Amino acid sequence: MLPERTDVLVVGAGPTGLAVATTLAGYGIAATVVDRLAEPPVTSRAAVVHAGTLEVLDRIGVAAPLATRGLHSVRFVVRDRDRVLATVPFDRLPSRYPYALLISQAETEAVLADRLTALGGRVLRPYEMTGLDLDGDGAVARFAGGGTVRARWVVGADGMHSRVRELAGIRFGGPADPGESFLLADVRVESALPRDQVTLFLSRRGPLVWAPLPDGTVRLVASVADAPREPQARHFQALLDERGPARRPDRVVEVAWASRFRIHHRIADSYRRGPVLLAGDAAHVHSPAGGQGMNLGLRDAVALGDALAAGPQALDGYAADRRPRAEEVLGFAAGLTRLAAAPPALRPLRDLLLRTASALPPTRHRLAVRLAGFEPHPPPAAASAG
Ligand SMILES: Cc1cc2nc3c(=O)[nH]c(=O)nc-3n(C[C@H](O)[C@H](O)[C@H](O)COP(=O)(O)OP(=O)(O)OC[C@H]3O[C@@H](n4cnc5c(N)ncnc54)[C@H](O)[C@@H]3O)c2cc1C
Repeated sequence: MLPERTDVLVVGAGPTGLAVATTLAGYGIAATVVDRLAEPPVTSRAAVVHAGTLEVLDRIGVAAPLATRGLHSVRFVVRDRDRVLATVPFDRLPSRYPYALLISQAETEAVLADRLTALGGRVLRPYEMTGLDLDGDGAVARFAGGGTVRARWVVGADGMHSRVRELAGIRFGGPADPGESFLLADVRVESALPRDQVTLFLSRRGPLVWAPLPDGTVRLVASVADAPREPQARHFQALLDERGPARRPDRVVEVAWASRFRIHHRIADSYRRGPVLLAGDAAHVHSPAGGQGMNLGLRDAVALGDALAAGPQALDGYAADRRPRAEEVLGFAAGLTRLAAAPPALRPLRDLLLRTASALPPTRHRLAVRLAGFEPHPPPAAASAG
């Protein structure tokens, strides 16, 4: 049942909301976490947790259990069909987790929820927040079916179409175009590609990501002009034939899960309005290039939990520190997308640059650190939250 009052109301129990609540629980602060879904989703969605994020999650006791459940990818390889253009090794990362962890988002959420439960917290379901009135003491949230909760702080961790953001009047800025279109699936595939690495194929028709998952399936993500409404095995076979390995082609045996989505590059104008704070997809969305979206949200979440525990003076620091980090990640994802979609005349130059850069160990290392999502230390205002 919903409480009448709470100190912190977290709207949304996706990875971001769960990580905010788990961080707070570690400080002995019991947040009220609500989600409109009766059960957590079981689909795989975001499939990679990077080393920089694992280092942050280590602080809330979540990295080690995640690491045992996921598959450890020790390098990221960029290819044009059979030709390797660049190899980015993760095994020299300055981390206890020197790899990209491949794991379904449902598993990541389950591990976070288990940790929250172990610390005495839980998620209240199904409660859909439909209204929010801000006043001098915080906010009153209204729910479908009639309940209300008065909260000192409201965390909008309710995803890309955030009601919290909308009701707080925070603009979600970005271009007005229809966004990039993607097809993705977890497929069983007969393949000669190594299962300890993620491969990005750069092809004339667009990029294709090939990432092994711990259940033996392979995650395929491709940008396409027109994604079919119900993607089938033949669509993914066609993508592999057109963009994947040529000498020893992959064969799709079965599609375990498939989806399509369009994504814009958008960022909230502000991460804070009075008692309302945003984190995760409610604050930023961008293309899946580099697998950065959920990772950035998880790092937001721990920073926000720290700031809420430190007290009101740290919250402006949170907002001021996290938004530029999202701008930086959006710029990185956009750069990767441009690299993948280079016009035909520029591709030989692009491929030469990639091969040259990848031959230089310091450049390779810098790229690995960048992909892994290690963040520079926060400025003093936000650091005081720790
Ligand atoms: C098909 C698909 C594939 C994806 N693939 C990738 C990928 O490969 N790599 C990657 O980095 N990212 C990927 N993403 C994006 C990734 O899933 C998100 O970045 C991540 O889920 C963001 O987490 P979040 O907790 O901020 O938001 P969400 O996961 O969106 O969680 C928001 C939660 O809020 C709840 N909620 C919403 N509104 C309300 C309300 N009014 N009241 C109460 N509860 C509410 C929702 O039920 C939901 O549980 C994918 C997403 C989809 C849909």
